[in-house]
This record gives sequence, structure tokens and C-alpha cells, in this order.
Amino acid sequence: MRIILLGAPGSGKGTQGEKLVAHFGIPKISTGDALRAAVKAGTELGKQAKATMDAGKLVADEIVIGIVEQRLAQDDAKHGFILDGFPRNTAQAEVLDAMLDRLGQPPMSRAVHLAVDDEEIVQRLLDRAQKEGRADDKEDVIRHRIEVYNAETMPLLKYYDDQHKLVNVDGIGSLEEIFARIIDAL
Ligand code: AMP
Repeated sequence: MRIILLGAPGSGKGTQGEKLVAHFGIPKISTGDALRAAVKAGTELGKQAKATMDAGKLVADEIVIGIVEQRLAQDDAKHGFILDGFPRNTAQAEVLDAMLDRLGQPPMSRAVHLAVDDEEIVQRLLDRAQKEGRADDKEDVIRHRIEVYNAETMPLLKYYDDQHKLVNVDGIGSLEEIFARIIDAL
């Protein structure tokens, strides 16, 4: 299984991704987690990415592509993986297709879209801000991240639909309900 999780920030990609990890025994690759770890560790890459992330903008394609390429080349990703937060735009999706081909890996199997409306997203992210204190979970930044998602990432729904890989899943409900819908849809 090679699964892409698509959905606005706060749609549940991270949580459902963890459940898929346990279910399929394959790793999850989250560019957002990798970038946050780099910021925390104070690496050069983290320093480059921090201001962009805090503003809710997308970091440069080369940076996230480099992260994914390194991770995909590792042994545990050879038999499948889950992508959370990548690709985020059409250019990244095209590079991903080419990268798998170059690595001699089969193409992506499915893109799972977790559908959650904007107001629910804002509410969830404000709740998360209180609990986790993420620097990009402030209301104006949240609204900007949703705009970036709608403008840059939504076109990927068509990209994967054209490849007959898109599955739409209702992202409202309990974690277990949503997970069952995903498994049914795969
Ligand atoms: P996430 O945890 O996936 O919401 O990502 C947090 C932030 O990391 C995003 O708002 C972007 O600034 C950055 N980021 C994560 N993944 C990508 C990506 N594929 N392309 C560009 N920026 C990304």
C-alpha cells in the first residue's frame, strides 16, 4: 500500500495516518513532522523553514522533496508507506510520481481525501492551539493555511481523480468511524 492522505490542516490526516501505520505495518512520512523536528533541533534546514511555517505558508518544494526522497530510499519504506502532508501542490505530486519511478518503486495506490468543512477546521485548529500550542495554530495563520490549502492543494483532488486513485471520505465523526470508512474505501 502506498497511500497519500489529503485534507485541510486539522482534517485528521495525522491521527488517521497513525491508525493506518498500525493497521498496515508501514511507515508514515509526514513532511510537517520532519520540518518541526528540524526547527526544534535548530538545523540549518529548520532555520530556513521556521518563518515560513509560522506564517502558514508552504516551504520551498526543494526542501520537502529532499525530505521525502531521503525517507523513501530507506529500507522500511520499500514495501509501502503513508504520506501525510506531501504532496501539497501539483509540482510536488509530479515530482513524487517521477521519484517513485526512479527508485524502482510502484506508483502510489490511493489518495484518501478527508473531507471536513472550513468552519469545523478552524474550530479544531483553535482547540489544538490551546492543547499543543503550535506556533501556526493562531486564528489568522489558521485562516491563511486554509486559503493556501484551497488554492495549492485542492487541485490535487483532480490530479488523483484523473489517475483513478482518489477516494473521498467523510472526515466528520469519531476516530473509529472515520478509520472504518477509510479501510472500506481502500
Ligand atoms: P503540516 O503539519 O502538514 O500542516 O505542516 C506544517 C507546515 O509545514 C505547513 O504549513 C508548511 O509550512 C510546512 N509543510 C509541510 N509539508 C509541506 C509540503 N509538502 N510543502 C510545503 N510546505 C510544507
